[in-house]
Amino acid sequence: MSDAPDVGELSPPNRTLMGPGPSDVHPRVLRAMSTPLVGHLDPSFVELMDEVQELLRYTFRTDNEWTIPVSGTGSAAMEAAIGNVVEPGDTMLVPTNGYFGGRMAEMAERAGGDVVEVDAPWGEPLDPDDVAAAFDAHDVDVFGFVHAETSTGVLQPEVPALTSIAHDHDALVIADTVTSIGGVELRVDEWDVDVAYAGPQKCLSCPPGASPLTLNDEAMEKVLNREADARSWYLDLSLLEGYWGEERAYHHTAPITNVYAIREALRLVAEEDIEERWARHRRVAGALKAGLEAMGLEMNAPEEYWLPSLNAVRVPDGVDDGEVIDYLLDAYDLEIASGLGDLEGDIWRIGCMGYSANPKNVSLVVSALGDALA
Ligand code: PLP
Repeated sequence: MSDAPDVGELSPPNRTLMGPGPSDVHPRVLRAMSTPLVGHLDPSFVELMDEVQELLRYTFRTDNEWTIPVSGTGSAAMEAAIGNVVEPGDTMLVPTNGYFGGRMAEMAERAGGDVVEVDAPWGEPLDPDDVAAAFDAHDVDVFGFVHAETSTGVLQPEVPALTSIAHDHDALVIADTVTSIGGVELRVDEWDVDVAYAGPQKCLSCPPGASPLTLNDEAMEKVLNREADARSWYLDLSLLEGYWGEERAYHHTAPITNVYAIREALRLVAEEDIEERWARHRRVAGALKAGLEAMGLEMNAPEEYWLPSLNAVRVPDGVDDGEVIDYLLDAYDLEIASGLGDLEGDIWRIGCMGYSANPKNVSLVVSALGDALA
């Protein structure tokens, strides 16, 4: 046997997180995470679960009874949505205009679904006419789209136009709201979105670990009447209903500390007021955008589908994107990120999310980037 490893005390660097997530965590959330653990069936925790559900409904702008934090990261909430709503043999329509549409396709296939695609270039939103054409060409059961594409910095505008096409064809709609929840206007009920999943580590400024999910009655009816069980036991919503529904019976041990964290993060959303929070993101990211443009940099997305929470900035000719990223981290403890997939090497991704979305961070990004490019 080897000797006991000599591992030092934890001492992470003190970064300013302005990348695609996670964002800086609010000190109140960190404090909530250091409060004592209780059992996951403790009466006090059961009460707290109700509070979290209520706060999640507020933040999603929904009255959906079926609104829960899924244990796991955003991908767990994503797989809970797709893996339960898509039945073997169903057809799911997914977008090709970014990285996360591709992940939707992979999950739908693993759920036994047949995948068909609606195309748009990386860096552009879906065109409702193309979505309508895809519905005319295929018998679609489930339509998935990404409201805020983190890989491209593109906001999908006109969400009600997309959901009405799907509903005219009796399909259910699943929206990826990982990078929009709590930062960009999102109205699940008013926009007729049947299922939405999200992550806590972006505009909610909470560590990853418990991820928002909401389903309306139509979607839940489909889930509860599936012919075959969902393939994942852990993410089977008909089983999770026992824990998050009336019964409050054991299914798995909830990540207590993460539930504390999301409760506090959502309390901060409610205190700020959701509409004011969306306005703050537009205001602060607007200042960032203006600062970057004043330096001669160009945003990748035009104003109509600019995503305040994720600013995709074109890398100037002759500049090595990776060198700048490394310099900002070394010299300023400042995290921004490179492009992914089709946009790799072409853009930087600068987040402006939650607690990180403040004027001080904007000044830091603009001055540090100015220095890096000088
Ligand atoms: N969907 C989008 C749009 C995302 O940006 C992410 C993560 O960045 C995910 C899904 C997956 O979330 P996670 O990495 O927390 O599993």
